[in-house]
Amino acid sequence: MASEAGRPFTGAGTPASAWQQWDPRWPEFDLSTPPQRVVVVAPHPDDEVLGVGGLLVRLHELGAEITVVAVTDGDGSHPGSPTLTPRQLAEHRIAEQHAALDALGLGQTEVRRAGLPDGRVAGHEPGLVDLVEPLVTPQTWVFTTWRGDRHPDHEATGRAAAQAARRVGARLVEYPVWAWHWAVPSDPDVPWTRARSVHLPEPVIEAKQRAVDCYRTQIAPLSGHPADAAVLPPPFLARLLRPTETVFV
Ligand SMILES: [Zn+2]
Repeated sequence: MASEAGRPFTGAGTPASAWQQWDPRWPEFDLSTPPQRVVVVAPHPDDEVLGVGGLLVRLHELGAEITVVAVTDGDGSHPGSPTLTPRQLAEHRIAEQHAALDALGLGQTEVRRAGLPDGRVAGHEPGLVDLVEPLVTPQTWVFTTWRGDRHPDHEATGRAAAQAARRVGARLVEYPVWAWHWAVPSDPDVPWTRARSVHLPEPVIEAKQRAVDCYRTQIAPLSGHPADAAVLPPPFLARLLRPTETVFV
């Protein structure tokens, strides 16, 4: 998630209650013929959990092997922090990501680290395509952040993953993260006709909550210093911990 480097979003954004009250009745995302392999290309450690953590659990239960491509290590979430250097922050976030996957019951998941600079993924798209492509076959489902999410890293990651999927002939599924902040229900800038719902069973919702709790550097302040403020305060988390996930097919 990591609004981070450049902090492109301000204010509290659209409240979770506005999304909860909206009932657009999208079709359910079809899991009747799950793939053997899923590759999740996530710009920052936490985007894989916040966007599709529950869906990954369901796919894993259906027999899919999950691979996470960690595009950045999230070193840019607290610029100017007096508490953690960017390098220390990255070390924390890598450990948090493994703990979070473990909390989802996905502790065996392979995590490929691209190590790209947080906030500057757009300068490295060809290299990211080359890293993702060999992980994908025509039968793989590729999940990534929506190319219209309005966070530069999320959009660049989405473009690179889309190109890798297109080259191989794999299915691409995008998921919004920051759109829940800046968009509003029925927003014409969002491709709602492509939206599909993933209803999460209660145990999966609870596992997703535990996974999010692993991201301490994001959900709690590093200190009382303004530069150490939480990137994901409770109103932000409420939007992303609703009982339904949404993907764009
Ligand atoms: Zn992110």
